[in-house]
Amino acid sequence: MAEQNRMMIESIAAALCYAAGAEFPKESCPPNPLITEYVDQAFQGGKADRLFLYNPDAVAEWVVDKYPGLVEKVKSETELQVPLQTEMPSVTPVCFASFYTGAKPIVHGITKYEKKLITIDTVFDALIRAGKKPVILAQHDCSMATIFRERPMDYFIFDDIEEEIAFAAELLMKDEYDAYFVYDYSYDHVMHRRGPEGLDSLAQLKCNDAAFEMLMTVVKRHWKKHNVFAGFAMDHGCHEIDGGLGSHGLDMKEDLFIRHFYQAIPKSE
Ligand SMILES: [Zn+2]
Repeated sequence: MAEQNRMMIESIAAALCYAAGAEFPKESCPPNPLITEYVDQAFQGGKADRLFLYNPDAVAEWVVDKYPGLVEKVKSETELQVPLQTEMPSVTPVCFASFYTGAKPIVHGITKYEKKLITIDTVFDALIRAGKKPVILAQHDCSMATIFRERPMDYFIFDDIEEEIAFAAELLMKDEYDAYFVYDYSYDHVMHRRGPEGLDSLAQLKCNDAAFEMLMTVVKRHWKKHNVFAGFAMDHGCHEIDGGLGSHGLDMKEDLFIRHFYQAIPKSE
């Protein structure tokens, strides 16, 4: 562990299951105590019957710290910040696999940039065993759309992020699932071509912020009868490379250090 309280990204898998009252994924490390303590206090020992996770790609902790105005809605919608270190190599399939299995790459089987099917136990499997209905929303061919397939659950796959976010809002309103995982590749996508601090990249970060706020507004308005655990939770960070481009995958703080944002909303009716 690099510093006090900075646990590995694997600590999120069991923490999400803890929040939802499900057993932990079989190969998972113990849950992140910042989250379990927060959940216990927020729900007074109860559990969340709805999960909503927004998964932006490549939003580094240093970018969040340097441009607080671009994540001000994320900050105002959440009260718990969880500093984390992601896995190596710090690329999307490796990191989301550790995020949602709670296991090291050598255990879950994705050890390089490879969108291979995860066959070990995941948060999704654990939720299904607990009688819950999870759903993944993601873009075509991305890691979140491919590595967690072949589970008895629904996957909605989109060509573009605007369509996905609009559909996510509709789905949240219908309230037919118990756990929603909404992946957003847009910052990562632009960051590779324009650099982490390129104007177009920062504009995408602001779009992530606005989308999360809008979806949280839907959650708060339509899920009053549920205990909700929600989060803005990324996979890895990023750094600038020659030519004003952006990259990630290396063993450096810029790529490895991330910060998740979580909110528990106890039911109000
Ligand atoms: Zn990337």
